[in-house]
Amino acid sequence: MKLTPIQRKGRVLVKARFGCLSNIHTLNVTRGCEFECVYCYARGYPGAPREEVYLYSNLPEKLAQELNNPRRRMPIRHVAFNTASDSFQRHPEILAVSYQAMTLLLERGIPISFLTKGWIPDRFIELFSTYPSLVRAGIGLVSISDKYQQVFEPGAATSWERLNNIERLEAAGVDVHVRIDPIVPFYTDSEEGIEALFLELAKRGVKRVILSYLHFRPGIIEQLSMELPDTTFKLLESCFETQPWRQVGTSTRSKLVPVFLRNKGYNRFGSIGERYGITCLVCACKNPDIPAQICTTGLPSFQETPKVAGQLSMFPC
Ligand code: SF4
Repeated sequence: MKLTPIQRKGRVLVKARFGCLSNIHTLNVTRGCEFECVYCYARGYPGAPREEVYLYSNLPEKLAQELNNPRRRMPIRHVAFNTASDSFQRHPEILAVSYQAMTLLLERGIPISFLTKGWIPDRFIELFSTYPSLVRAGIGLVSISDKYQQVFEPGAATSWERLNNIERLEAAGVDVHVRIDPIVPFYTDSEEGIEALFLELAKRGVKRVILSYLHFRPGIIEQLSMELPDTTFKLLESCFETQPWRQVGTSTRSKLVPVFLRNKGYNRFGSIGERYGITCLVCACKNPDIPAQICTTGLPSFQETPKVAGQLSMFPC
């Protein structure tokens, strides 16, 4: 994967327009992502880079300017990282920019949150341990199967590295939850697969997970058809065949896994979770057609009040 440093021209803090991230400032350190998850919505956007990651190398300076701007009318209450990329990609230059940006915010007392499928280096954990009440960490982990990972998330951290993130974040006193998203129908929602995952999460004291099934969008379908083995793609495609296109979040054309399959799967997660003392919450932003669940309970007080009661933070990736 080629890394190209570029200068960010516009503002680096951008207000999200979707779900319960609405009106929250978001920040991405790169355009493109070296993890190359096959289901990545950000990779499916028109003009998204392929086999190249653009790093906003001037991001720390621009961020400092925006934070110090005396004409700023709205205070920055919270910054959500990684809505279309990942701060913990392995490249040292990406990590350096991420570290500077997070330090700038935390030193000013501004809470941050992130969702990652990467491995978090120790120096970040040390930084977070100084400001534990200002950090909300999400770890994306769908399955602990190596085979799943090789096919669906070829460049991301291994499941064991991500489990190790959980251990070190918890030891640092940081609020951490696990996001099981996207659940891939027929691949990551079997009894055995969920049992194996929850066993490892429970060992690490995880008490809360957030669930959502895979969506189909036009850009993703093409990507999946090119990057998945043919039989895997065909099986997935069959699952969405009879489903209508509909608006989900900011996407006007999405297909959801049929309600009966999703409900069956979420119930399976829920009942296995109960045995392990893990509460399973379904992401309301990504499941607009089934009853929403309140998932903000227990989150730090810096969480802004969602526009729609009961919705979860939605990360497009
Ligand atoms: S889903 Fe997230 S981690 Fe995976 S490629 Fe997309 S931005 Fe990167």
